[in-house]
Amino acid sequence: MNADATKIASTLAAVKDHTRSFEDFLFVYPVISRRSRGLSIGVNLNPDKVCNFDCIYCEVDRQTPPRTRSVDPARMRAELAEVIRQVRAGDLLRRSRFEEAAALATEIKDIAFSGDGEPTMIANFAECVQIVADVKREAGLASTKIVLITDAAGLDKADVKRGLEIMDANNGEVWGKLDAGTEDYFRLVNRTTIRFDRILKNLLETSRVRPIVIQSLFLRVHGSPMPEAELAAYCDRLNELLRDGAQIKEVHAYTVARPTPEPFATKLTAAELETIAATIRSKTGLPVSTFE
Ligand code: SF4
Repeated sequence: MNADATKIASTLAAVKDHTRSFEDFLFVYPVISRRSRGLSIGVNLNPDKVCNFDCIYCEVDRQTPPRTRSVDPARMRAELAEVIRQVRAGDLLRRSRFEEAAALATEIKDIAFSGDGEPTMIANFAECVQIVADVKREAGLASTKIVLITDAAGLDKADVKRGLEIMDANNGEVWGKLDAGTEDYFRLVNRTTIRFDRILKNLLETSRVRPIVIQSLFLRVHGSPMPEAELAAYCDRLNELLRDGAQIKEVHAYTVARPTPEPFATKLTAAELETIAATIRSKTGLPVSTFE
């Protein structure tokens, strides 16, 4: 069974248009996110568009020069408070992008560290988490999550661990990327010099402390979906994590939603994604939600 009971149509304008620009804001932007199951306020900690991965499916526009290169914490705080105010005042619904998603655009499901790169790469991650936690508390948004969408490479940094502890105390949730089962496929899809075993170790250590979500993008590379043996290896990695004490809430299995920079990285069909999800469920026993 699909664990996602509240599917949000991928045809909604506010879902298709995941632009990270909102008014003249530099760091904060509202979107309707299928994986958040509603309104998500994004906090972009990488306005410089820097990442330690170079995924073949990455949708970040690195051709357009960034408007700023570093996070200004005071401005980020003010922008976040203002977006929350606008949601509450119903101002968001007056924007054409959100009009047809009115039922979804009033409840803030999460505030997500996401954006144009890898959030754990900044030097003051914990400070930024504290700011978001403070604004969330001041706004009385106890049920709103703080989500960290991460490639997991920086989860072993001391400052990031401090940030995760602040998240834990403030309804936080980590969504860690795992797109492969082997070092070779990891290098093919995520194109990084970071070792695959470091990613696995970071996912394990993080999920031993608190339950996490695994987010996995499945796609066609040069026309071929993930090979069967690779999918089996991917399930083996999940089972090894579980065996070693990982707490995994669920797996988000998704595919390419918007144009990729690499023409050979293309979308799976809904049926293909569902077949992969069924394999993961049967081999690991984990709940899997799909987002095609
Ligand atoms: S980890 Fe995210 S931001 Fe970085 S290259 Fe991959 S998709 Fe892009």
